[in-house]
Amino acid sequence: KDTCESTDIVEECCCDYESINDINGAILHPLLQELVKTPFFRYFKVKLWCDCPFWPDDGMCRMRDCSVCECPEHEFPESFKKPLLHILPKDDPVCQEGKPEATVDRTLDARSFRGWVEVDNPWTHDDETDNGEMTYVNLQLNAERYTGYTGPSARRIWDAIYTENCPRLNLQNRLSRADAYGETCPEKKVLFKLISGLHSSISSHIAADYLLDETTNKWGSNLNLMRDRVLKHRDRVENLYFTFLFVLRAVTKAAAYLDQAEYDSGNHMEDLRAQFLIRQLVHDSKLQDACALPFDEAELWQGQGGPMLRQQIQNQFRNISALMDCVGCEKCRLWGKLQVLGLGTSLQILFSVNDQGNPDPHVEDAVKI
Ligand code: FAD
Repeated sequence: KDTCESTDIVEECCCDYESINDINGAILHPLLQELVKTPFFRYFKVKLWCDCPFWPDDGMCRMRDCSVCECPEHEFPESFKKPLLHILPKDDPVCQEGKPEATVDRTLDARSFRGWVEVDNPWTHDDETDNGEMTYVNLQLNAERYTGYTGPSARRIWDAIYTENCPRLNLQNRLSRADAYGETCPEKKVLFKLISGLHSSISSHIAADYLLDETTNKWGSNLNLMRDRVLKHRDRVENLYFTFLFVLRAVTKAAAYLDQAEYDSGNHMEDLRAQFLIRQLVHDSKLQDACALPFDEAELWQGQGGPMLRQQIQNQFRNISALMDCVGCEKCRLWGKLQVLGLGTSLQILFSVNDQGNPDPHVEDAVKI
């Protein structure tokens, strides 16, 4: 039974590309560039090596740029390390790639990142409270860029995402924009736009940092790729902006929580800096204005079938999140997991409800709407 009831609030976006570009250029981008260098934000806690729940490993990760380098973690803040566990053998056989800096820490310590309540997010497949086999990855040393991951393995993931998890839009999304969304209800549009926006973002990162010449190892931007995969498709550009605004909306809604949270990595000065930057970000008045409202999320899930529809879309997003364990390239999997976790957290902030259909008190407490 189709649980959708059609009203159209997703298309009525509130501000133009120029305003978004201005805000990004003047405020967000410079702040975020600094924030991602601080220890609290540059280390990402993740379970990277899980079996794909849908099909056997197709072993595509053969290129050097594909792998996340696992090395001795001498640069890690002391408080990240458990006593006695932080000295790894000098000749770590896994890391022979000429990158001496630590990128992955296999040890965890409850003293770091304290003050953050770990909650299992119903929108994502990984159990965020399960610390087993979790590692910290230094994102600064594993930039999202071209890795050479392409062909049937990558295509299989995108096909599974679009055909099984955004089914109403799959056959239509290659048609003109007017036809593409057809009668689809706004809630399903949100899911499709988020995934398509994520796809545009991944393609943009590949184009921005591309291996131009393998023999000389020359890297640079690939404008043809950017044009072919993103810019010449109006929908893909729109969806990129939509996803950007969606996450921004979640950040502004969680402003009070982010303001009060502890950014404890064990490096006091750096942690103070992270907090200072976060406060600048969430209190900037320009970010609080209408541009951070891509649609009014309170208008979604209101019809009779609302709760069932929410469950259906939550399950679809969880499936997409589970598919990240099937990505056959470590670095792509790392960034896929990080970005899907970011979207899942935004979905939780904006849409979570308890069993009675009321806004989830945990999320309410957390984000102080
Ligand atoms: P693909 O990007 O694979 O697209 C497949 C089809 O999807 C297209 O033919 C088109 O019909 C449709 N499509 C494309 N873009 C959109 C959009 N925005 N909205 C809607 N539909 C669209 N490669 C790297 O080099 N570095 C990475 O970090 C990386 N990360 C990845 C992360 C994930 C989770 C996945 C699944 C793949 C990743 N890849 C990465 C691979 C990369 O996304 C491409 O699959 C690969 O470069 C091959 O591209 P392609 O031209 O075949 O088209």
